[in-house]
Amino acid sequence: MLPNKDGYFDEFGGKFIPETLFFALSELEKRYAKIKKSKKFKNQLDYYLTHYVGRPTPLYYAQRLTERLQGAKIFLKREDLCHTGAHKINNALGQILLANEMGKKRIIAETGAGQHGVAVATAAGLFGLKCEVYMGSEDIRRQKLNVFRMKLLGAKVIPVESGTKTLKDAINEAIRDWVTNVETTHYLLGSTVGPHPYPMIVRDFQSVIGKETKKQAIKHIGKLPDYLVACVGGGSNALGLFYPFYNEKVKFIGVEAAGEGIKSGKHAAPLCAGKIGILHGTKSFVLQDENGQISSTHSVSAGLDYPGVGPEHSFYKKSKRAEYAAVNDKEVLKAFCLLSKTEGIIPALESAHAVAYIVKMAKKWGKNKNVIMCLSGRGDKDMEEIANIFGASL
Ligand SMILES: *Cc1c(COP(=O)(O)O)cnc(C)c1O
Repeated sequence: MLPNKDGYFDEFGGKFIPETLFFALSELEKRYAKIKKSKKFKNQLDYYLTHYVGRPTPLYYAQRLTERLQGAKIFLKREDLCHTGAHKINNALGQILLANEMGKKRIIAETGAGQHGVAVATAAGLFGLKCEVYMGSEDIRRQKLNVFRMKLLGAKVIPVESGTKTLKDAINEAIRDWVTNVETTHYLLGSTVGPHPYPMIVRDFQSVIGKETKKQAIKHIGKLPDYLVACVGGGSNALGLFYPFYNEKVKFIGVEAAGEGIKSGKHAAPLCAGKIGILHGTKSFVLQDENGQISSTHSVSAGLDYPGVGPEHSFYKKSKRAEYAAVNDKEVLKAFCLLSKTEGIIPALESAHAVAYIVKMAKKWGKNKNVIMCLSGRGDKDMEEIANIFGASL
């Protein structure tokens, strides 16, 4: 089972970090290894996932979308129905329970669009833990609603003014904070990225998606699906769905954000157009220029707007266990409207990337194939953005 003991998935992953972080990471690794085996922890997590998050989420047959596309049968794994509106709460809650067991009283996190920040503020609020969220000042300006939500939930939002004032700068600041306050503080990272053991921990907590899906597929389809499709930002909803199917004959497809097109350079598709490099303590595919400078990214969905990707995805790419594709903003907006109108489900713009890819492929795959897509979140958070794009005023 990967990663190996040093945190590698083949050549990807590891811990490319300053000496000062070694202690914190190895403590986290040791404590996690122990806690995850404890029956008490498992029961506690199951309890909150069931009664607080609302799991299991349904596997829903999208009949009208299937009829419209005249191809493969499409099923949606409804993570949009989780409390707070996306899969991020699965990981936030798991790590909060972990922090609680470790006796940490203060939680810090990074956030880009604010979705992870809201999930962390929610879970920290539930356990009465102090919560501080680092967020680029540019993102604070763009995501006012989520900033307000975090504050209502009792979290403090700390503006980051360095670099491009966005997600990658917020991660840098959160790491800096953690180094100095590791005795009292847990850093709650939001996706399958960063140094070992984070990519593994986040994957494990999100795997509940795939475990449920496996049972539901047998029950509702009578067999495992032919394809699993999910959008990829850092890669946590995709790995959560894929990982429990690793040894099965099921094709994995991750969909990245092509933004204004791969050729335009304005995109967020490191697996499709990046090079191997190091970002935030892990070796993986990264968007960078010839000198190794991290490139700026673009996507209509803030949640996919990250120049790196989880190391396990890089391993899946290299070993050809998964395929990766990218869809552009235009295709995404069309798919967003299509799902809203045919199924009465307004998806998050991130999730609409997976829909857009299925729109392209359903007919080609053919009617006797079954595809399950992770509907990672709902679109409520994107209303202002969508209204702006369509020239509507709210
Ligand atoms: C944050 C987010 C994503 C991207 O993150 P992953 O770690 O790649 O899953 C996708 N969908 C939604 C709804 C999100 O909030």
